[in-house]
Amino acid sequence: MKIAFIGLGNMGGGMAANLVKAGHDVHAFDLSEEALAAAKDKGCTTYSTAAEACEGVDAVVSMLPNGAIVKTVYANNVFGHAPAGAVLLDCSTIDVATARKVSEAAAEAGYPMVDAPVSGGIAAADAGTLTFMVGGSEDAFKKAEPVLQAMGKAVIHAGDAGNGQAAKICNNMLLGIHMIGTCEAFAMAQKLGLDPQTFYDISSVSSGQCWSMTSYCPVPGVGPTTPADNGYKGGFATALMLKDLKLAMEAAETAGITPNMGQRARELYEIFDRAGNGPRDFSAYIETLD
Ligand code: NAD
Repeated sequence: MKIAFIGLGNMGGGMAANLVKAGHDVHAFDLSEEALAAAKDKGCTTYSTAAEACEGVDAVVSMLPNGAIVKTVYANNVFGHAPAGAVLLDCSTIDVATARKVSEAAAEAGYPMVDAPVSGGIAAADAGTLTFMVGGSEDAFKKAEPVLQAMGKAVIHAGDAGNGQAAKICNNMLLGIHMIGTCEAFAMAQKLGLDPQTFYDISSVSSGQCWSMTSYCPVPGVGPTTPADNGYKGGFATALMLKDLKLAMEAAETAGITPNMGQRARELYEIFDRAGNGPRDFSAYIETLD
Protein backbone atom coordinates (compact mmCIF):
# COMPACT_ATOMS: atom_id res chain seq x y z
CA MET A 1 0.00 0.00 0.00
CA LYS A 2 0.95 3.65 -0.42
CA ILE A 3 0.69 5.20 3.05
CA ALA A 4 1.15 8.85 4.05
CA PHE A 5 2.63 9.25 7.55
CA ILE A 6 2.34 12.64 9.26
CA GLY A 7 4.21 13.23 12.54
CA LEU A 8 7.52 11.35 12.74
CA GLY A 9 8.50 12.12 16.33
CA ASN A 10 9.45 9.73 19.14
CA MET A 11 6.51 7.45 18.37
CA GLY A 12 5.78 8.13 14.69
CA GLY A 13 9.40 7.59 13.59
CA GLY A 14 9.42 3.95 14.73
CA MET A 15 5.86 3.31 13.51
CA ALA A 16 6.63 4.60 10.00
CA ALA A 17 9.79 2.45 9.91
CA ASN A 18 7.69 -0.64 10.72
CA LEU A 19 5.33 0.15 7.83
CA VAL A 20 8.38 0.27 5.54
CA LYS A 21 9.61 -3.07 6.96
CA ALA A 22 6.18 -4.58 6.20
CA GLY A 23 6.66 -3.64 2.53
CA HIS A 24 4.57 -0.46 2.34
CA ASP A 25 5.54 2.62 0.36
CA VAL A 26 5.59 5.30 3.08
CA HIS A 27 5.18 8.99 2.15
CA ALA A 28 6.46 10.87 5.19
CA PHE A 29 5.96 14.42 6.42
CA ASP A 30 6.95 16.27 9.60
CA LEU A 31 7.59 19.94 10.34
CA SER A 32 10.98 18.96 11.76
CA GLU A 33 13.83 18.56 9.25
CA GLU A 34 15.61 16.26 11.68
CA ALA A 35 12.60 13.92 11.93
CA LEU A 36 12.29 13.90 8.13
CA ALA A 37 15.98 13.02 7.69
CA ALA A 38 15.64 10.13 10.18
CA ALA A 39 12.54 8.85 8.32
CA LYS A 40 14.43 8.99 5.03
CA ASP A 41 17.25 6.89 6.56
CA LYS A 42 14.62 4.31 7.55
CA GLY A 43 13.35 3.96 3.98
CA CYS A 44 10.47 6.49 3.82
CA THR A 45 10.05 8.91 0.91
CA THR A 46 9.91 12.44 2.33
CA TYR A 47 7.75 15.36 1.19
CA SER A 48 7.87 19.08 1.91
CA THR A 49 4.15 19.37 2.78
CA ALA A 50 1.59 17.01 4.31
CA ALA A 51 -0.74 17.68 1.36
CA GLU A 52 1.88 16.42 -1.12
CA ALA A 53 2.56 13.35 1.02
CA CYS A 54 -1.16 12.49 0.81
CA GLU A 55 -1.45 12.60 -3.01
CA GLY A 56 -2.29 9.17 -4.47
CA VAL A 57 -2.15 7.19 -1.20
CA ASP A 58 -4.39 4.34 0.02
CA ALA A 59 -4.12 5.34 3.70
CA VAL A 60 -3.02 8.25 5.89
CA VAL A 61 -1.58 7.71 9.38
CA SER A 62 -0.97 10.59 11.80
CA MET A 63 0.92 10.65 15.12
CA LEU A 64 0.70 14.25 16.32
CA PRO A 65 0.94 16.11 19.66
CA ASN A 66 -2.67 17.23 20.27
CA GLY A 67 -6.26 17.61 19.05
CA ALA A 68 -5.91 21.16 17.72
CA ILE A 69 -3.01 20.12 15.47
CA VAL A 70 -4.84 16.96 14.33
CA LYS A 71 -7.94 19.00 13.41
CA THR A 72 -5.92 21.57 11.42
CA VAL A 73 -3.74 19.02 9.63
CA TYR A 74 -6.75 16.96 8.47
CA ALA A 75 -8.80 20.02 7.44
CA ASN A 76 -5.98 21.75 5.54
CA ASN A 77 -3.74 18.98 4.28
CA VAL A 78 -5.56 15.66 4.15
CA PHE A 79 -9.18 16.28 3.10
CA GLY A 80 -9.23 16.97 -0.64
CA HIS A 81 -5.58 15.89 -1.03
CA ALA A 82 -5.75 12.16 -0.23
CA PRO A 83 -7.83 10.30 -2.86
CA ALA A 84 -11.52 9.91 -1.86
CA GLY A 85 -12.02 6.57 -0.09
CA ALA A 86 -8.47 6.42 1.35
CA VAL A 87 -8.65 5.23 4.96
CA LEU A 88 -7.52 7.76 7.60
CA LEU A 89 -5.95 6.64 10.89
CA ASP A 90 -5.20 9.12 13.66
CA CYS A 91 -3.02 7.34 16.24
CA SER A 92 -2.33 10.47 18.35
CA THR A 93 -3.75 10.75 21.88
CA ILE A 94 -6.36 13.53 21.69
CA ASP A 95 -9.66 14.48 23.31
CA VAL A 96 -12.71 12.38 22.54
CA ALA A 97 -14.79 15.34 21.27
CA THR A 98 -12.20 16.42 18.68
CA ALA A 99 -11.70 12.81 17.54
CA ARG A 100 -15.46 12.56 16.90
CA LYS A 101 -15.60 15.93 15.07
CA VAL A 102 -12.64 15.10 12.80
CA SER A 103 -14.12 11.70 12.02
CA GLU A 104 -17.46 13.32 11.12
CA ALA A 105 -15.70 15.84 8.86
CA ALA A 106 -13.82 12.94 7.23
CA ALA A 107 -17.07 11.11 6.51
CA GLU A 108 -18.52 14.27 4.93
CA ALA A 109 -15.40 14.59 2.77
CA GLY A 110 -15.71 10.92 1.65
CA TYR A 111 -13.13 9.18 3.84
CA PRO A 112 -13.52 6.26 6.27
CA MET A 113 -11.63 7.22 9.45
CA VAL A 114 -10.58 5.64 12.74
CA ASP A 115 -9.12 7.08 15.94
CA ALA A 116 -6.48 4.53 16.96
CA PRO A 117 -4.48 5.70 19.99
CA VAL A 118 -1.86 3.37 21.38
CA SER A 119 -0.78 1.72 24.58
CA GLY A 120 2.98 1.21 24.74
CA GLY A 121 5.77 3.77 24.58
CA ILE A 122 8.71 4.53 22.30
CA ALA A 123 10.25 1.05 22.70
CA ALA A 124 6.97 -0.60 21.64
CA ALA A 125 6.63 1.83 18.70
CA ASP A 126 10.15 0.86 17.54
CA ALA A 127 9.56 -2.86 18.08
CA GLY A 128 6.13 -2.88 16.40
CA THR A 129 4.47 -4.17 19.57
CA LEU A 130 1.94 -1.38 20.26
CA THR A 131 -1.66 -2.07 21.29
CA PHE A 132 -4.17 -0.07 19.22
CA MET A 133 -7.60 0.88 20.64
CA VAL A 134 -9.72 1.68 17.64
CA GLY A 135 -12.88 3.78 17.26
CA GLY A 136 -14.81 3.90 13.99
CA SER A 137 -17.36 2.11 11.83
CA GLU A 138 -16.99 -1.60 11.08
CA ASP A 139 -16.03 -0.71 7.49
CA ALA A 140 -13.37 1.84 8.55
CA PHE A 141 -11.98 -0.64 11.11
CA LYS A 142 -11.65 -3.41 8.49
CA LYS A 143 -9.74 -1.06 6.17
CA ALA A 144 -7.49 0.24 8.97
CA GLU A 145 -6.74 -3.13 10.59
CA PRO A 146 -3.99 -4.37 8.19
CA VAL A 147 -2.15 -1.03 8.47
CA LEU A 148 -2.29 -1.16 12.28
CA GLN A 149 -1.23 -4.81 12.39
CA ALA A 150 2.09 -3.87 10.76
CA MET A 151 2.82 -1.58 13.74
CA GLY A 152 1.41 -3.48 16.71
CA LYS A 153 0.81 -6.71 18.56
CA ALA A 154 -2.89 -6.13 19.27
CA VAL A 155 -5.61 -4.22 17.39
CA ILE A 156 -8.91 -3.94 19.27
CA HIS A 157 -12.14 -2.44 17.92
CA ALA A 158 -13.63 -0.34 20.75
CA GLY A 159 -16.79 0.77 18.91
CA ASP A 160 -17.75 3.96 17.08
CA ALA A 161 -15.66 7.07 16.39
CA GLY A 162 -14.01 8.47 19.54
CA ASN A 163 -14.23 5.18 21.44
CA GLY A 164 -10.53 4.47 20.87
CA GLN A 165 -9.68 7.74 22.64
CA ALA A 166 -12.24 7.00 25.37
CA ALA A 167 -10.61 3.60 26.03
CA LYS A 168 -7.14 5.16 26.08
CA ILE A 169 -7.89 7.91 28.60
CA CYS A 170 -9.90 5.62 30.90
CA ASN A 171 -7.00 3.14 30.83
CA ASN A 172 -4.40 5.84 31.49
CA MET A 173 -6.47 7.42 34.26
CA LEU A 174 -6.44 4.00 35.97
CA LEU A 175 -2.69 3.70 35.34
CA GLY A 176 -2.00 7.13 36.92
CA ILE A 177 -4.10 6.21 39.95
CA HIS A 178 -2.50 2.80 40.56
CA MET A 179 1.03 4.10 39.99
CA ILE A 180 0.51 6.71 42.73
CA GLY A 181 -1.06 4.05 44.96
CA THR A 182 1.85 1.69 44.34
CA CYS A 183 4.39 4.43 45.16
CA GLU A 184 2.51 5.27 48.37
CA ALA A 185 2.31 1.61 49.42
CA PHE A 186 6.07 1.06 48.94
CA ALA A 187 6.93 4.32 50.74
CA MET A 188 4.66 3.47 53.65
CA ALA A 189 5.85 -0.15 53.89
CA GLN A 190 9.42 1.08 54.11
CA LYS A 191 8.62 3.67 56.82
CA LEU A 192 6.91 0.88 58.77
CA GLY A 193 10.13 -1.14 58.65
CA LEU A 194 9.51 -3.50 55.73
CA ASP A 195 12.22 -4.21 53.18
CA PRO A 196 10.90 -3.18 49.68
CA GLN A 197 11.76 -6.58 48.19
CA THR A 198 9.89 -8.34 51.01
CA PHE A 199 6.87 -6.11 50.50
CA TYR A 200 7.02 -6.83 46.74
CA ASP A 201 7.23 -10.58 47.36
CA ILE A 202 4.08 -10.37 49.51
CA SER A 203 1.97 -7.78 47.69
CA SER A 204 2.75 -9.01 44.17
CA VAL A 205 1.01 -12.30 45.03
CA SER A 206 -1.69 -10.71 47.22
CA SER A 207 -4.76 -8.60 46.54
CA GLY A 208 -2.79 -5.32 46.19
CA GLN A 209 -1.08 -6.67 43.07
CA CYS A 210 -1.36 -4.44 39.97
CA TRP A 211 0.53 -3.65 36.73
CA SER A 212 2.39 -0.69 38.29
CA MET A 213 3.81 -3.13 40.83
CA THR A 214 4.51 -6.31 38.89
CA SER A 215 5.38 -4.93 35.42
CA TYR A 216 6.57 -1.40 36.17
CA CYS A 217 7.79 -1.37 39.76
CA PRO A 218 8.78 2.19 40.79
CA VAL A 219 11.45 0.93 43.24
CA PRO A 220 14.94 0.37 41.76
CA GLY A 221 16.19 -3.21 42.00
CA VAL A 222 12.77 -4.67 42.83
CA GLY A 223 10.67 -6.69 40.35
CA PRO A 224 11.45 -6.73 36.60
CA THR A 225 13.83 -4.22 34.99
CA THR A 226 11.94 -0.91 34.67
CA PRO A 227 12.77 2.81 34.18
CA ALA A 228 13.40 2.90 37.98
CA ASP A 229 16.54 0.83 37.27
CA ASN A 230 17.68 3.43 34.75
CA GLY A 231 17.38 6.58 36.87
CA TYR A 232 13.75 7.02 35.67
CA LYS A 233 14.96 7.78 32.12
CA GLY A 234 12.98 6.58 29.09
CA GLY A 235 9.65 4.90 29.74
CA PHE A 236 6.50 7.05 29.88
CA ALA A 237 7.17 10.76 30.49
CA THR A 238 5.39 12.48 33.39
CA ALA A 239 4.33 15.26 30.96
CA LEU A 240 2.49 12.67 28.84
CA MET A 241 0.82 11.10 31.88
CA LEU A 242 -0.34 14.58 32.89
CA LYS A 243 -1.60 15.25 29.34
CA ASP A 244 -3.68 12.03 29.45
CA LEU A 245 -5.06 12.79 32.93
CA LYS A 246 -6.13 16.27 31.74
CA LEU A 247 -7.87 14.70 28.73
CA ALA A 248 -9.55 12.21 31.07
CA MET A 249 -10.84 14.99 33.35
CA GLU A 250 -12.18 16.95 30.33
CA ALA A 251 -14.00 13.83 29.13
CA ALA A 252 -15.37 13.16 32.64
CA GLU A 253 -16.83 16.66 32.75
CA THR A 254 -18.51 16.18 29.37
CA ALA A 255 -19.84 12.80 30.51
CA GLY A 256 -21.14 14.32 33.77
CA ILE A 257 -19.20 12.12 36.19
CA THR A 258 -16.76 13.00 38.99
CA PRO A 259 -13.81 10.61 39.15
CA ASN A 260 -12.38 11.69 42.54
CA MET A 261 -9.27 9.53 42.35
CA GLY A 262 -8.65 10.59 38.75
CA GLN A 263 -8.90 14.26 39.75
CA ARG A 264 -6.45 13.75 42.61
CA ALA A 265 -4.01 11.89 40.32
CA ARG A 266 -4.18 14.82 37.87
CA GLU A 267 -3.44 17.32 40.70
CA LEU A 268 -0.52 15.26 42.02
CA TYR A 269 1.03 14.77 38.57
CA GLU A 270 0.56 18.50 37.87
CA ILE A 271 2.60 19.38 40.98
CA PHE A 272 5.22 16.75 40.10
CA ASP A 273 5.45 18.03 36.50
CA ARG A 274 5.75 21.67 37.64
CA ALA A 275 8.69 20.72 39.86
CA GLY A 276 10.67 19.98 36.67
CA ASN A 277 9.91 16.27 36.31
CA GLY A 278 8.06 16.46 32.96
CA PRO A 279 10.65 14.52 30.93
CA ARG A 280 11.23 11.86 33.63
CA ASP A 281 9.37 8.56 33.78
CA PHE A 282 6.08 8.87 35.67
CA SER A 283 7.13 6.23 38.23
CA ALA A 284 9.72 8.73 39.58
CA TYR A 285 6.74 10.09 41.53
CA ILE A 286 7.90 7.75 44.33
CA GLU A 287 10.76 10.18 45.08
CA THR A 288 8.24 12.75 46.33
CA LEU A 289 7.35 10.36 49.18
CA ASP A 290 10.91 9.90 50.38
P1 NAD B 1 6.76 14.00 19.56
O1 NAD B 1 6.68 15.41 20.00
O2 NAD B 1 8.05 13.28 19.69
O3 NAD B 1 6.31 13.90 18.00
C1 NAD B 1 5.32 14.67 17.42
C2 NAD B 1 5.81 15.05 16.02
O4 NAD B 1 4.77 15.77 15.34
C3 NAD B 1 7.05 15.96 16.04
O5 NAD B 1 8.08 15.38 15.27
C4 NAD B 1 6.54 17.28 15.44
O6 NAD B 1 7.51 17.96 14.67
C5 NAD B 1 5.40 16.77 14.57
N1 NAD B 1 4.41 17.80 14.24
C6 NAD B 1 3.84 18.72 15.05
N2 NAD B 1 2.96 19.47 14.36
C7 NAD B 1 2.97 19.01 13.09
C8 NAD B 1 2.29 19.36 11.90
N3 NAD B 1 1.40 20.37 11.88
N4 NAD B 1 2.54 18.67 10.77
C9 NAD B 1 3.44 17.66 10.78
N5 NAD B 1 4.14 17.27 11.86
C10 NAD B 1 3.91 17.94 12.99
O7 NAD B 1 5.59 13.23 20.31
P2 NAD B 1 5.43 11.63 20.50
O8 NAD B 1 6.02 11.22 21.81
O9 NAD B 1 5.83 10.94 19.24
O10 NAD B 1 3.83 11.56 20.68
C11 NAD B 1 2.96 11.61 19.58
C12 NAD B 1 1.55 11.23 20.06
O11 NAD B 1 1.59 9.93 20.63
C13 NAD B 1 1.00 12.15 21.14
O12 NAD B 1 -0.36 12.38 20.90
C14 NAD B 1 1.25 11.38 22.44
O13 NAD B 1 0.34 11.72 23.46
C15 NAD B 1 1.05 9.96 21.94
N6 NAD B 1 1.73 8.91 22.76
C16 NAD B 1 3.04 9.08 23.11
C17 NAD B 1 3.67 8.08 23.86
C18 NAD B 1 5.12 8.20 24.26
O14 NAD B 1 5.58 7.39 25.11
N7 NAD B 1 5.89 9.13 23.70
C19 NAD B 1 2.96 6.93 24.24
C20 NAD B 1 1.63 6.79 23.83
C21 NAD B 1 1.03 7.80 23.08
